[in-house]
Amino acid sequence: VDGFVGFANLPDQVYRKAVKRGFEFTLMVVGASGLGKSTLINSMFLADVYSKDHPGPSQRIKKTVQVETTKVLLKEKGVNLTLTVVDTPGFGDAVDNSDCWQPIIDYIDARYEEFLVNESRVDRKCVPDSRVHCCLYFVAPGHGLKPLDIEFMKRLHEKVNVIPVVGKADTMTPEECDEFKAQVLTEIRQHKIKIYDFPDSDDEEESKIQRPLKDRVPFAIVGSNTVLEVDGKKVRGRRYPWGTVDVENLEHCDFVALRKMVVRSHMMDLREVTNNVHYENYRCRKLAGVDS
Ligand code: GDP
Ligand code: MG
Repeated sequence: VDGFVGFANLPDQVYRKAVKRGFEFTLMVVGASGLGKSTLINSMFLADVYSKDHPGPSQRIKKTVQVETTKVLLKEKGVNLTLTVVDTPGFGDAVDNSDCWQPIIDYIDARYEEFLVNESRVDRKCVPDSRVHCCLYFVAPGHGLKPLDIEFMKRLHEKVNVIPVVGKADTMTPEECDEFKAQVLTEIRQHKIKIYDFPDSDDEEESKIQRPLKDRVPFAIVGSNTVLEVDGKKVRGRRYPWGTVDVENLEHCDFVALRKMVVRSHMMDLREVTNNVHYENYRCRKLAGVDS
């Protein structure tokens, strides 16, 4: 089992700043309950963000969408990361899901507003940043996107970096999974949804490594917080009568690709795009007096 998260793998200059001040990252997860959101978060950050003592909001039954945040402080190679996980239990669980994205939009806008107010103050040496830097949108395995998936992404894609993820990918054969991913991408294109576009690295060698990972979008995830022993090796996995899924094996699912891209190689870019594109859009709409 890979024993480190990897967020401290920063370019030199950023690393030096981050060692001094630490940095903040806010990750939102959205999708129907039971798709493995909490499981994925725990595996990504090797922390019991959700545990038996803190089972996470989706364990409690709710009829409306709630937005609940959990903060954890992670430390690695001398860098402090304040990770905020924004969970949205109840999303898509109601009989009538019209407007179920509204509490999520309100939350995102409220964080932009907060930042805007703080930034405008005279004394603004260190503005806390609780803006949502990335939204993992969980799609259920099936035949394609559901109308709610399309509606949600269309309403959110200009406000936040959306990365589509297919949950519980172990319910599909590899062929079905490839077909499903292609279908999801086609529909995303047809509906002109702008998902987060992982930029190539400036480093040609890095890019060569990253491109095949990027080609896996939408990341098909199998989640597990159970450590199993396979051939004398400890792996995070799921055991079935016919075999074992090692979630950290790229032949079994895209978990490692997702974690590498979001936590290691592109965390800083996700923060920059949030600031330079999404927040800037919010600010301009606000200054122009347009109701977002
Ligand atoms: P959430 O409601 O989206 O947060 O889902 P959870 O992470 O709480 O997972 C719901 C249930 O599905 C739990 O029993 C998990 O052990 C299980 N689960 C999580 N990920 C997977 C997966 O990839 N495949 C399968 N088959 N089950 C999963
Ligand atoms: Mg959950």
